[in-house]
Amino acid sequence: MKDVIIIGAGVCGCAIADALGEYGCNVAVVERASDVACGATKANSGIVHGGFDATAGTLKAKFNALGNPMFDELSKQLDFPFRRNGAYVLAFDRAGIDGLEALLERGRANGIKDLERVDGDTVRLRNPHVSKSVTAALYCPSSGIVSPYEMTIALAERANMRGAEFIFNTGVTAISRRGSVMTVDCTGGKSYAARMVINCAGVHADEVAAAAGVHDFTIRGRRGEYYLLDKTQSYLTDATLFQLPTSLGKGVLVAPTVHGNVLVGPTALDTDDKDGVATTAAGLEEAMSKGRLSVPSISARSAITQFVGVRAHCDKDDFIIGMSSLQGFYNVAGIESPGLTSAPAIARYVAAEVAAYLSLKRKTDFITVRKGIPCFAAMSDEERAELIASDSRYGKIVCRCECVTEGEIIDSIMRPLGARDIDGVKRRTRAGMGRCQSGFCSPTVIQLIADTLGVPVQSVTKCGAGSYAVTGRI
Ligand SMILES: Cc1cc2nc3c(=O)[nH]c(=O)nc-3n(C[C@H](O)[C@H](O)[C@H](O)COP(=O)(O)OP(=O)(O)OC[C@H]3O[C@@H](n4cnc5c(N)ncnc54)[C@H](O)[C@@H]3O)c2cc1C
Repeated sequence: MKDVIIIGAGVCGCAIADALGEYGCNVAVVERASDVACGATKANSGIVHGGFDATAGTLKAKFNALGNPMFDELSKQLDFPFRRNGAYVLAFDRAGIDGLEALLERGRANGIKDLERVDGDTVRLRNPHVSKSVTAALYCPSSGIVSPYEMTIALAERANMRGAEFIFNTGVTAISRRGSVMTVDCTGGKSYAARMVINCAGVHADEVAAAAGVHDFTIRGRRGEYYLLDKTQSYLTDATLFQLPTSLGKGVLVAPTVHGNVLVGPTALDTDDKDGVATTAAGLEEAMSKGRLSVPSISARSAITQFVGVRAHCDKDDFIIGMSSLQGFYNVAGIESPGLTSAPAIARYVAAEVAAYLSLKRKTDFITVRKGIPCFAAMSDEERAELIASDSRYGKIVCRCECVTEGEIIDSIMRPLGARDIDGVKRRTRAGMGRCQSGFCSPTVIQLIADTLGVPVQSVTKCGAGSYAVTGRI
């Protein structure tokens, strides 16, 4: 029997599994997808928010403020990309300036000290491509950018090194309690027992709670559509450029990614289709036209892909974190933005609560460092030569756009919780993330997955569950 079963391997589930490792807790993470970070965690803005947006006194405000400062040390320990690039909230008129004042006050109430009001000329002096219509802005230097899926993969790998088991391709269908034992029934007739269950099922967390007989909240999907621009466009902005938030969220932003692309989006549209991630012409048009209000020279022709992320918007309009009415069943639900920023702080808090409930003591010795895959693209010529001398597979470029080598791809498959499909390799190495969007490298990636795992190429999928890339031999 496990101490804890976590349902869902997004950033929350993985961060909690990792934090519980510090208590020697015997954890399993049950995930219906084929990999970690397959829900909202893989499709968001990747902003480590400064913390001025959430209403004071909410869990969103509390965990945002606690989470943001944790990123410097966490990214070093876990070797994932993170940078404090600073953010501006742009105002275009008098009403906007009043809105900035309200945000400034809210930020101060949340304990965010580094906020600064700047005028439009100052914004453009620092960010020359910002629109001439911008009259003022709120500047937050502690805002940052992170690769959300690389962060989550790193958390999951360290959780795994600390003893957590990950069970993929397994959806939870029912949760029950008899005496002190929780039983988690899953697809495929599988069943697991634990002393405690933590619900981190993202946009489906209300359905998972209902499967435990808990009906305290409902969650709606809120779609956000994005354009991702080519790296040639990185000159457009180095800072994150927000517009004033609306009742539906933080609005459309223009922001760099940690890998040098530019994001434009997200829109916000409520939906009943929680898993619907197809883009629409109307959504993309809205993202582009709103993005151009901030940076008029953005061109849709420089887009290399588009995508949709679905927010888990809860009817309580705040995070739901705590033991439910069913003893032993703990919710970490409604984790919409700033959930990515908050995840490390949420995990620390939840782990301490779980440890108290299960009478576990924090250990004094646990693994802290996780080393990522060597990044050939970021190395100097000397470093590259040394790596190739140690293993010639690092001398073979597979993804030309992102300069990813065969050695990196094999490492991504062989390491703890290694990639099992094309998207898994892509999120771990960036092979296929570039301008050609895997048109060139995917056949080689498929062959490398098959050869490394010793399986036929026909069995390799794009993202699990029947998404076969090769249908047969001719
Ligand atoms: C458009 C958008 C933009 C955002 N921008 C930001 C941002 O810039 N900064 C920020 O801080 N936050 C942002 N967020 C919020 C952030 O992405 C989320 O808060 C965070 O990723 C939520 O993580 P999670 O682990 O709770 O959920 P998820 O990542 O959705 O993970 C839930 C997991 O549970 C699994 N699951 C569901 N049902 C079951 C079941 N029955 N059995 C087993 N597994 C199940 C799913 O497959 C999924 O993998 C944004 C979100 C969106 C959608």
